[in-house]
Amino acid sequence: MNIGIHASIAGGFVNAPLEAAGLGCSTFQIFSKSPRSWEAVPLAPEAVEIFKKTVISKKMYPVVVHTSYLINLASQNAVLLERSINTFALEIKRAEELGADFITTHVGSCGTCNKKEALAAILAAVKRALRLSGTGKIMILFENSAKRDTPGGVFKDLAFLAKESGKRFGITLDTCHAFAAGYDLRNKKACDDCLLEVEAEAGTGRIKIVHLNDSKGDLLSGLDRHEHLGQGKLGLEGITAIIKHPKLNELAFILETPKEPEGADAGNIAFARAAGKRKVS
Ligand SMILES: [Zn+2]
Ligand SMILES: [Zn+2]
Repeated sequence: MNIGIHASIAGGFVNAPLEAAGLGCSTFQIFSKSPRSWEAVPLAPEAVEIFKKTVISKKMYPVVVHTSYLINLASQNAVLLERSINTFALEIKRAEELGADFITTHVGSCGTCNKKEALAAILAAVKRALRLSGTGKIMILFENSAKRDTPGGVFKDLAFLAKESGKRFGITLDTCHAFAAGYDLRNKKACDDCLLEVEAEAGTGRIKIVHLNDSKGDLLSGLDRHEHLGQGKLGLEGITAIIKHPKLNELAFILETPKEPEGADAGNIAFARAAGKRKVS
């Protein structure tokens, strides 16, 4: 199975593929800048060079960049919306420079606004960011949200955004968020139902990566609280059903599980590999 972690770029970009390789991973995700700041130090060409070389030598695929948490493409505050669009464009450019395969982003939220209007606003913001980012070709993924009623809470929302944005756009399936938003993934049949809904709305092959997380919150709780694999409400059965699902099992599974206690990533990777080998009827 193609499994990876969200790796740290502390001390240099090259540390991310090295950390992932050290854990036996074949894929990883990073932030290209601090996710809680608008500031971004320009990428140093030498650092990019050694990062790319290490990605190749360690055979990492895909390389995923997660955008800043501050970006809100649905913001009704004009200043924040402008910043979000500019930062999203910058993030796309940086991910391109790093040679990443995918960039994944949350679509944003807007309090009590009407969802249809919010989706139209997000689409307009995405198109502006795309123009600002230049003529790149990195694939851009919209991630499902943990709250069913906010934009991205149902796959119909993401399908609309991906289809209207064009061929460069796809979907990230976050298993904790999906469960919290009311998609029961705890057995094969439940996964079938969820993935058939995605396909009915978005067409086949739109999900490009999976954020493999267990969920602290219950089904439809709306809680974005990631848990170690097998220790949350998805549990062993849910994680097994997800990993083994024929529509998902070829994709990259990236863990966004808690980093504590020490050794947590190794434990979650081992859990996922063991779940992938389970025999289930
Ligand atoms: Zn995620
Ligand atoms: Zn989350």
